[in-house]
Amino acid sequence: MVVEAPSERVRVRRTAERARYEAEEIAAILDDGYAVHVATVAPADGRPLIIPTAYVRVGTHVYVHASPASGLGRAFRAGAAMCLAVTLLDGLVLARSAFHHSMNYRSVVVHGYGREVTDPDEREQALRAFVERVEPGRWDAVRGPTRTELAATMVGAVSLAEASAKVRTGPPVDDEADLTIAVWAGVVPLSLMAGEPVAASHQITPGGASPSSGSGWSGRRSSRRAPPPRRR
Ligand SMILES: Cc1cc2nc3c(=O)[nH]c(=O)nc-3n(C[C@H](O)[C@H](O)[C@H](O)COP(=O)(O)OP(=O)(O)OC[C@H]3O[C@@H](n4cnc5c(N)ncnc54)[C@H](O)[C@@H]3O)c2cc1C
Repeated sequence: MVVEAPSERVRVRRTAERARYEAEEIAAILDDGYAVHVATVAPADGRPLIIPTAYVRVGTHVYVHASPASGLGRAFRAGAAMCLAVTLLDGLVLARSAFHHSMNYRSVVVHGYGREVTDPDEREQALRAFVERVEPGRWDAVRGPTRTELAATMVGAVSLAEASAKVRTGPPVDDEADLTIAVWAGVVPLSLMAGEPVAASHQITPGGASPSSGSGWSGRRSSRRAPPPRRR
């Protein structure tokens, strides 16, 4: 079933067969990422402003947290128009011609408005999700935030109602006439992988098991839930 773009603004135009608008696909890509670029228009000078930051998806929203005094914090408090982008790089695509070099990726663009989360339950749910995203079960193991820490944390949300994803997979798309050129062509896979955890030097009390021993951190990598390759 072809799912249409939820609005003209999020309709992918070029190589539109790579577009995805299904909520589940968008959620799956977002759940594989850690960093988002938040674009807005700075009220001070009307110029574009892009801030990279951490995020987590919960249900139909992307959440970020920031200092209330930061530009990002102010933008969320003001309900500013925003555009968010998450990009996961899955491979370098080496073609037989310069023109057809490409990258395999899964990316999401979200258009919406910033909203400062003030409801205590939604705030806690978002903050819990941030910590659980680092390591499942961690929220209940660590000290929870104090009132002062909560006051120093602006939680912002953007709805996923207007979002698009784009996915490129598979080999280079070489021109027929280039197939005999004697140069290597193919894909160099890329992935985000966790290294061996390094305990903090100030760990003076027995700190329990390292993340590698139980939670699957060691060797954790993006789950690559992309659909099967499609050629252009
Ligand atoms: C790692 C990477 C490398 C890329 N390299 C190139 C390149 O070299 N040259 C090139 O032309 N394109 C490249 N792209 C694709 C690029 O992101 C755009 O899709 C492309 O510029 C075409 O945009 P458009 O004119 O169709 O859409 P636009 O008119 O620019 O945008 C319309 C709407 O489409 C949606 N959209 C557009 N692109 C994406 C996307 N990538 N992910 C999710 N939603 C999107 C957004 O909602 C946007 O508001 C790359 C993408 C990635 C992630």
